[in-house]
Amino acid sequence: MHTIHESFIASAEARPDKVLFQRPGRQDLSYGQTRQLVERLAAVLTGIGVQPGDRVAVQTDKSAEAVCLYLATLQVGGVYLPLNTAYTGAEIDYFLGDAEPRLFVCTPETLAAHQPRTGPGLRVESLGRAGDGSLMALAEAATPRRDRVVRAMSDHAAILYTSGTTGRSKGAVLTHGNLASNTAALIEAWHYAETDRLIHALPIFHTHGLFVAINMTLVAGASLIWLDRFDADEIIGLMADATVLMGVPTFYTRLLKSDRLNPGAVASMRLFVSGSAPLLAEDHRAFQDRTGHAILERYGMTETCMITTNPHDGARKPGAVGMALPGITIRITDRETGALLPDGEIGAIEVRGPNVFEGYWRMPEKTAAEFRKDGFFITGDLGQIGDDGYLRIVGRDKDLVISGGYNVYPKEIEGLIDDLPGVVESAVIGVPHPDLGEGVTAIVVSQPGTALHEDAVIAAIGDRLARYKQPRKILFVEELPRNVMGKVQKAELRRAYADLYK
Ligand code: ATP
Ligand code: MG
Repeated sequence: MHTIHESFIASAEARPDKVLFQRPGRQDLSYGQTRQLVERLAAVLTGIGVQPGDRVAVQTDKSAEAVCLYLATLQVGGVYLPLNTAYTGAEIDYFLGDAEPRLFVCTPETLAAHQPRTGPGLRVESLGRAGDGSLMALAEAATPRRDRVVRAMSDHAAILYTSGTTGRSKGAVLTHGNLASNTAALIEAWHYAETDRLIHALPIFHTHGLFVAINMTLVAGASLIWLDRFDADEIIGLMADATVLMGVPTFYTRLLKSDRLNPGAVASMRLFVSGSAPLLAEDHRAFQDRTGHAILERYGMTETCMITTNPHDGARKPGAVGMALPGITIRITDRETGALLPDGEIGAIEVRGPNVFEGYWRMPEKTAAEFRKDGFFITGDLGQIGDDGYLRIVGRDKDLVISGGYNVYPKEIEGLIDDLPGVVESAVIGVPHPDLGEGVTAIVVSQPGTALHEDAVIAAIGDRLARYKQPRKILFVEELPRNVMGKVQKAELRRAYADLYK
């Protein structure tokens, strides 16, 4: 196995003139040019004193240059640590204090504010969205450096912070082996090849946009159509020149709103991938009706890279996340005792394989608590493996509602509500309740122009749900709170409705 950096160099040597980053409105970057920039940045990092194992923290806008910084960090044996661009003030203090990077790269706009952080152990430089900034000025003046620090598969490559959906973000320490093995498994599973041209509209501080999309492209020698952000019309226009789109579910919800999405627009596309949050089964069906393409949904997390996927060849089932990737094992266990459960039963999803991270950065107790003795990692998600062998996620362990002593899995109720005419989507949460402990509560987004009533919804699903599962209250909202990865923020909903039954 080769590290991502080694594979990138091999790809660049094989096809120096091929476009790696196609940048609408900006100059394209070939593999050879990208390599040059990586090697200049490697020289800068070495000059700054980045030693093997040192963290390079990065909070910048999305740019090809930021990807070069990632690769340069790997080249010098550093540990790449990207931060969500939404974090500010005290959050950044926490992350930098926690990670203790040797170098922090911020945007030119925030450089003056961050410069006071500079000290004996920390340098601060900037990188702008147009490839500007103090770091790039250093790179332009540097002599490219070809030598690299040889790393073992067990050495650290990156620390990625989780999305913070269930609490404070945790730093997941990922090794070169985690990244390389997962990339290889995905390339095999999705038949990703040199001929692919991937529309990249995801952020690059998260595993989806950084490790799934970019690592696969670098290793396969494919090309990226590089976009700063998601714009449905722009993307539909670019599809004529592309083969693959990787997106979060909200990408697909938004694409479906455009009347330009039709079989003609997707004629050259071969694969649509969704992940990071559950894809609405309704969107899966609607997308197939409109384009003839069954979206391929996969499941993964920061700590484990990708775990399961619907098949490339075979049924891609709405509401299911498919089977474990090659080399990875999953199992379902009792969420309290950890005992193995037979297929069909709902329990904790656990995973083992070369994809699973080493542990949480500087959180040995938390790490120990999330692993079983035989090396399985407890994902924190609940699911079931059906007779068909497909994994279906029913929600997060932390979102499980316990009402009157009974377990209520939100997904079951959300599925029924979502299928009702006039409903766009829903989120079921548990809210403190004086008698029941938690009251099952549904937050529903209805289609514009439809007047749905609480009683009508309860009546419509009532005969299909045991009494204890039936929502005590149904609330209607314009939209569900989501983060940039399209994840519904249930903790926020629970806070907002905490006093509902008081
Ligand atoms: P935190 O761990 O900080 O609470 P997070 O779990 O949202 O945040 P990520 O690592 O970005 O952080 O997300 C992984 C989670 O996303 C998974 O554990 C799972 O709950 C969810 N997820 C990913 N893909 C899917 C999918 N296809 N269907 C349903 N859920 C998914
Ligand atoms: Mg998580």
